[in-house]
Amino acid sequence: MSLLNQVESFFDEAASYLSYPKELLEQIKVCNSVLSVSFPIKRDNGKIEVISGWRAEHSFHRLPTKGGIRLSENVDISEVMALAALMSYKCAIMDIPFGGAKGAIKINPKLYSTSELERIIRRYTFELYRKNFIGPGVDVPGPDMGTNEQHMAWIADTYMAISNDPMYYFASVTGKPVNQGGIRGRKQATGLGVFYALSYIFKDLEKKTIAIQGFGNVGYHLAYYLFNELNAKIVAIADVRGTLFNQNGINVNKLYEYQQEHGSIEGFNDGIFYKDSNKVLEVDCDILVPAAIENVINESNVNKIKAKVVAEAANGPTTFNAHFKLLELGKIVIPDIYLNAGGVTVSYFEWLKNLSHVRFGRLDKRLREQNNLLLIKQIEELTNKKVNERDLEILKRGPKEEDVVKSGLYDTMVSAYEEILEYSNKYKTDLKTAAFIVAINKIAITYEQLGIFP
Ligand code: NAD
Repeated sequence: MSLLNQVESFFDEAASYLSYPKELLEQIKVCNSVLSVSFPIKRDNGKIEVISGWRAEHSFHRLPTKGGIRLSENVDISEVMALAALMSYKCAIMDIPFGGAKGAIKINPKLYSTSELERIIRRYTFELYRKNFIGPGVDVPGPDMGTNEQHMAWIADTYMAISNDPMYYFASVTGKPVNQGGIRGRKQATGLGVFYALSYIFKDLEKKTIAIQGFGNVGYHLAYYLFNELNAKIVAIADVRGTLFNQNGINVNKLYEYQQEHGSIEGFNDGIFYKDSNKVLEVDCDILVPAAIENVINESNVNKIKAKVVAEAANGPTTFNAHFKLLELGKIVIPDIYLNAGGVTVSYFEWLKNLSHVRFGRLDKRLREQNNLLLIKQIEELTNKKVNERDLEILKRGPKEEDVVKSGLYDTMVSAYEEILEYSNKYKTDLKTAAFIVAINKIAITYEQLGIFP
């Protein structure tokens, strides 16, 4: 089954609990618009290469549509449509007023120089613009597998150059560097969102053993917070080259330094390295976090999963059949459409910042500091006790942008989880089916209120 079939099967399973007209469900399920592009670029050696790419806008029930751009040689149009659908459901679950979208360029980014990548991304942006597939109120891309802040800056700059939209061009793409209209906290948002969710769900997270597949944007940031904030024991980490195992726990900071220098975790001297990226999935641990690619937990290996919890940080890491097999085996699955939504949540904050042209916290930080100080002074006078200098600094502090972003992210992750849990109890389903039910309900209500469906 393709990823698209998997996503549609999860959708149908959840829809079977609901009594909406089948036409309405069909409208929610289908992809509303797909763009396919091919264009030539000149390689550094002077040769011309034709590049293919796509952008799928899954749902127009809310605008703009929103979703990352993936650079991968294994991607195809059907996968892009599946990922766009996941974005619609994700945004609905998180109460983010966007429809879902996704883009992809079929290349292995590691085989291109920086200037070649710049030409490819700028040209892809131009193609999106020509077909009205990008714009602050139309469709807003962001980073995904293989793309980073630099790529997002090129997209914003290209959009600015061709759109004649000097007021709002920064809001045409998210995940930009902070000094190019980005927001503090976006880079780490998906991993941090996973961390917040897991810390909320498992109050004793620091005592759990954890294995993570993927040491890129999502996997690394999750590992960073687990290691540095909780000193949690991460017993295995995998990247595309293989799995690093250390039952005493991996030093994430040292591994990251090593990876930055060598381009992979292979060869790190503290632990055993297996040249098998999927070995990590079968490690004995409490929580397994697939944070790399889709369909890695499938019928061929589902029986070998030892972890009690599968926390889906990647998009679509578990196939439909494997998902229900995991449940049969008594495992808990925390679903992707909820768990990795921290990225789009902070992207939403970035978009709001770009539309308002003001940094969060800028207007009221000082005012809050003064009020906090006044309050502390009053309490000191009334109690005849002095707050020590260290606590005073913390108590009087007004929120900076990063504080506001983290607070909004935490609150969104927690509220969405509570809602999914409520639906899971109400319909007596697993968390993934419940998450789809939440999403379908919210999108269905939008259509019903328009009076299109009876
Ligand atoms: P990334 O490109 O930064 O990192 C991907 C990691 O996965 C790398 O460590 C790579 O070595 C590893 N990997 C690649 N192929 C692999 C394979 N076959 N087996 C094992 N490991 C492999 O990507 P990312 O942004 O961290 O995204 C990871 C997943 O999270 C994807 O499914 C993506 O769609 C999803 N996601 C990302 C974001 C985001 O903000 N970046 C948001 C939501 C969801």
